[in-house]
Amino acid sequence: MKIETNFLVIGSGIAGLSFALKAAEIGKVIIITKKDDKESNTNYAQGGIASVMGKNDSFDIHIHDTLTAGSGLCHEEAVRYMVYNGPAAIEKLLRNGVAFSKTGEKSLDLSREGGHSRKRIVHARDYTGREIERAFLQTIKNNNNIQILENHIAIDLITEHQIEDRDFSTGIHCWGAYVLDILKNRVSIISARVTLLSTGGCGQVYLHTTNPLIATGDGIAMAYRAGAKVANLEFMQFHPTSLSKEGSNAFLISEAVRGFGAILRDKNGNAFMKTYHKKAELAPRDIVARAIDREMKKSGENCVYLDLTKQNAESIKKQFPSIYNKCLDFQLDITKEWIPVVPAAHYMCGGVVVDMNGCTNIKGLFACGEVAFTGVHGANRLASNSLLEAVVFTEPAVHKASEYLKTVKIKFPEIPPWNLDGTFNQDEWVYIVHDRHVIREVMWDYVGIVRSDFRLARAARRLDMIAAEVEEFYKKTTVTNDLIELRNIATVAQLIVRSAMSRKESRGLHYNTDYPNRNDVLWQHDTYLSKAVI
Ligand SMILES: Cc1cc2nc3c(=O)[nH]c(=O)nc-3n(C[C@H](O)[C@H](O)[C@H](O)COP(=O)(O)OP(=O)(O)OC[C@H]3O[C@@H](n4cnc5c(N)ncnc54)[C@H](O)[C@@H]3O)c2cc1C
Repeated sequence: MKIETNFLVIGSGIAGLSFALKAAEIGKVIIITKKDDKESNTNYAQGGIASVMGKNDSFDIHIHDTLTAGSGLCHEEAVRYMVYNGPAAIEKLLRNGVAFSKTGEKSLDLSREGGHSRKRIVHARDYTGREIERAFLQTIKNNNNIQILENHIAIDLITEHQIEDRDFSTGIHCWGAYVLDILKNRVSIISARVTLLSTGGCGQVYLHTTNPLIATGDGIAMAYRAGAKVANLEFMQFHPTSLSKEGSNAFLISEAVRGFGAILRDKNGNAFMKTYHKKAELAPRDIVARAIDREMKKSGENCVYLDLTKQNAESIKKQFPSIYNKCLDFQLDITKEWIPVVPAAHYMCGGVVVDMNGCTNIKGLFACGEVAFTGVHGANRLASNSLLEAVVFTEPAVHKASEYLKTVKIKFPEIPPWNLDGTFNQDEWVYIVHDRHVIREVMWDYVGIVRSDFRLARAARRLDMIAAEVEEFYKKTTVTNDLIELRNIATVAQLIVRSAMSRKESRGLHYNTDYPNRNDVLWQHDTYLSKAVI
């Protein structure tokens, strides 16, 4: 089956939906999403979205906080653009019906998170992302120019690579994607003049992650295969505090809980953060995550504890209803008991390289949101800057995409149908489950919060072998959702390890015991990877 559209948006999180709403003013938009329309990292965001809104705050202070967290690698121009456009982004969300928490008729309730020196987190209680998804999806459902296809997973981008008489003399072009309709088990060609990657993060590459199952790094893997540049993949942010209870699936205990006054304690009740950083519980995330990792390694325990019990019980329930209820599901009353927590892979600061307009080095291919590398996060993301980045950069991306539609004569080539030759239906899928698990374990054990050259080399050897086997299996087997994800997880894991191996220093989220110090003379630059175009 072939479908044609102006805009193909891959992913229905905050970036995809924000882009689609704007793009629909210009032409037809198809959004594909691999589960239901809400299932995304966005849907799980609790804390909120950072923006300068308070009287005692300023753009300069927000910029300063972002640059400080980014440890010398933030692209300052991109940071400035994001921060200055923060209030407009909040305005856009309000216009689209997002019900943020308020203190009065008009004033938004602002909370504070680690690394922020002012209260500037706009939020909807502790379910900000869910509220944003709800509001955007409701607006989109009334828009005739937007069609959402659920349970559709992009397999690969359509570029010169798939065309018979391939000619790269004018660069690489993207004309849409091959897409598997998961329920009908059918592969279609969706040809598009403009394709947006808004596929989110890749936390599922790690054994412990706060990310939902969709976060398998598909966008990074597809873009890399198509010849896009990717950057800074060594900078995976580990959230310091996810719930450590059997079956809780690393449910996130938001940073805002520490901002609210929770204290981190070891099992004997000692508050340990002051020995690691002067800001104690409000230190940047990487420092808190490494401190917890260190405390767990020292004690041999499999968690530490967050203590909220000194705070007012009614205020806790009001401020954190989702966390309170989720913990109650595990027989834990957080107003009375400490919360057992462990770090978990949370946010990818690197991604597909884009300019300030969301353009990748592939013509017709744009990227926004967590999948994209704009440079705003540097070596470490400041909490709640990611939702902001996603909304802010979709605006210039749509503008540039519309210019591209108007000025470039886009002629679709003859796109060959999906080739099923030589593939067969497996009757044993145990390999996929096994390989996915092994990759995630290798990443957790050797490429986690604390790395070393020895561990990285060991991980690289294992991953190269698994990835080669997966590729072989992929070529022979009829394509399925699980196989597509496994192939992408294998690719992204390899890329993370290659990036981590090439950075011979410790900076921000990347900590290597063989080079424990930051080296600004040799390493104050990004780590780029790209595949030879053939
Ligand atoms: C638990 C948690 C809490 C967080 N809290 C905050 C917070 O308080 N503040 C903040 O700023 N950030 C927070 N973040 C980070 C933030 O939520 C994400 O960075 C942001 O939501 C990413 O948005 P996105 O649109 O780029 O991707 P996502 O919201 O992840 O959406 C990706 C979409 O792409 C789809 N997709 C992926 N691959 C394919 C494919 N191959 N084919 C078709 N569809 C595909 C998915 O199904 C999904 O719809 C949090 C993240 C998590 C996990």
